[in-house]
Amino acid sequence: MFNAVRTIEAPASLAAKQRYDGDDVYIELCKIFFDKCYICETKEPHDINVEHFHPHKGDVHKKFDWGNLYLACSRCNNIKLAEFDDILDCCDTEVNVFRAIRHVPPITPYAKTAQLLSMSADPKVELSRQLLDRVYNSDHSVNKRVSGAFLRRKVFYQYNLLLDQINSYYNPVSTNSERETSLERMQKLIHRSAPYSAFIRWCILDDAELSDLLVGFMD
Ligand SMILES: [Zn+2]
Repeated sequence: MFNAVRTIEAPASLAAKQRYDGDDVYIELCKIFFDKCYICETKEPHDINVEHFHPHKGDVHKKFDWGNLYLACSRCNNIKLAEFDDILDCCDTEVNVFRAIRHVPPITPYAKTAQLLSMSADPKVELSRQLLDRVYNSDHSVNKRVSGAFLRRKVFYQYNLLLDQINSYYNPVSTNSERETSLERMQKLIHRSAPYSAFIRWCILDDAELSDLLVGFMD
């Protein structure tokens, strides 16, 4: 997960209380969430939903409340449903969502799991971890098993981009300028707008040298 900042005013179409997923809502949500699903961090997923963070259950205020609308891929939306209605809020500026849950990427393209670990006993953290575990590792149906494996491969390929830069940075024959370039590329990979940034950030945090150099870029 990644933190998002809801700086934009409520889109005009919400005031009419006719629909909550108008074009203007979708466009503004794409800006706020960097075109990513706020749960799995897939960039530009093939199927996107305007999701109610707290299920509206017919409550008109909750249904058209700008602060309750999030951008999620249809797969995560389907997994979350009403079962996970009290998870960490990535738009809450008081909560650092990526640090709350340790994300360990799959280490091969066909790894059977990606590991998610709660970093505290907070029930919201644990519920969020359970949701993420189901998103990345679910095998309770054929569809979820296949799409989960596909998702883990995408996380692995992003992790592999990071490994390329780590290898370049620590290559004993790299020049200073090559090392600088690798650091700049790692900054791009850990940026909130990058796919699967929580996984990539935790890899960097685990490295004694790189964490010191890059922790300042994990806003
Ligand atoms: Zn998703």
